[in-house]
Amino acid sequence: MIERSLHELARALASKEISSVELTQLYLDRIASHDPQLNAYISVDPERSLAQARQADARLAKGEGGPLTGIPIAQKDIFCAKDWLTSCGSKMLSNFISPYDATVIRRFAEAGAVLLGKTNMDEFAMGSSNETSFYGPVRNPWRLDCVPGGSSGGSAAAVAARLCPAATGTDTGGSIRQPAALCNLTGLKPTYGVVSRWGMIAFASSLDQAGPLARSATDCAALLNAMAGFDERDSTSLDRPGEDYARDIAAPAGAKPLAGLRIGLPKEFFGEGCRPEVMRLIDAAIAGYRELGATTVAVDLPNMKLSVAAYYVIASAEASSNLARFDGVRYGYRAPEYRDLNEMYGRSRAQGFGAEVKRRILVGTYVLSHGYYDAYYLQAQRIRRLIAGDFAEAFRHCDVILGPTSPTTAFRLGEKASDPVQMYLSDIYTIAVNLAGLPGMSIPCGFADGLPVGLQLIGDYFTEARLLNVAHRYQHANPWHRQAPTGFV
Ligand code: GLN
Repeated sequence: MIERSLHELARALASKEISSVELTQLYLDRIASHDPQLNAYISVDPERSLAQARQADARLAKGEGGPLTGIPIAQKDIFCAKDWLTSCGSKMLSNFISPYDATVIRRFAEAGAVLLGKTNMDEFAMGSSNETSFYGPVRNPWRLDCVPGGSSGGSAAAVAARLCPAATGTDTGGSIRQPAALCNLTGLKPTYGVVSRWGMIAFASSLDQAGPLARSATDCAALLNAMAGFDERDSTSLDRPGEDYARDIAAPAGAKPLAGLRIGLPKEFFGEGCRPEVMRLIDAAIAGYRELGATTVAVDLPNMKLSVAAYYVIASAEASSNLARFDGVRYGYRAPEYRDLNEMYGRSRAQGFGAEVKRRILVGTYVLSHGYYDAYYLQAQRIRRLIAGDFAEAFRHCDVILGPTSPTTAFRLGEKASDPVQMYLSDIYTIAVNLAGLPGMSIPCGFADGLPVGLQLIGDYFTEARLLNVAHRYQHANPWHRQAPTGFV
């Protein structure tokens, strides 16, 4: 059961081979027995999950089920879920029971999916290793002394260890794609604005985007079909006609299913900085794509080298503004002792936020301050525009861009935790995509020393259906994504 795709689970539920209650219980049992090793979940609520499963079974009995009805899905703890703890990985929200559902949570509920639990994450989604969580680090099921990546590390570890069939993540600078790469998963960050951010706790609003973290491209398509869509409560949500993200995957294909596809290879992705054992597998994947009929073309992203610097100015600036709301007044952590209002603010924030979050707030406040705004923030916005222009130019010559997702495989817990700059460089290949607002994926493409390696695919705006198909055709011919970590299956 735990190796089945979402389609296969939907079929098993529809044919009564298994009920949603049984399926949910199976995963709750797996969480109880395996999660202590991983720390992938911040909260589970078996009673509530099983109650949802019973409702799903009633719906299925009436023949009213959809593709996700009765399937348990894990949600990153960044999404507000009514009457659940919604901590965002922070002490600041460690007592916050959300009074409402995020749009993503509501859409999954409407689809009849079961909320299986809330997954661990870097505090306020700031990190690349899941070590900044107030709830402690998550371990990588492929090697327990290594990180799962971040910030959606709990979701990634949970899917990889089969502690849920699929999960959600959010990606501000790589937080879906990088943990997907480090845990042998398929992850998709959609075009900015495709999935509503309403009720998703904000880190950097102009970059944040939610997406699926699953085992295959077909599973990602099924999840995105549930998640995507216009939401009038998010002013940056895009009002576009609905689409079936699985339509290209479902289309008939011959022996050369990707004939005519032009894959762009930016030289900036293939220079120094990437570990040779990772690059060897990326090269092998390119050969795999040629066998499927694709051609390759060299493209240039000359400003990509500036992306990490620009990102840490813009993301920190937006974070410093977004996190100003956590003041201990209406909700969240409040320091137990203070003499006056200012001391209450100061102490609540000093005690409620961890070191990485404070670093970002300080950097963000600094780059927005009078006298520095032009030198840093405006300059970073100009670079952002140049990067978007580089992609626009590249997409005149190709349909998708391909490269590594992460320059390394999973690193050891603690290895980069004390060196923020090294940590920030783990996102060197993913961040430009967020600055431009483009869709990007990571898919498994092999193993180096027993650890998974991820291949990144980047598409032009709104080409998710094609991107998912490009991922799917590769997975069909090269089923790396079917490998599971020993000890969990
Ligand atoms: N690792 C990046 C950061 O720390 C990206 C995080 C994310 O995508 N949420 O900001």
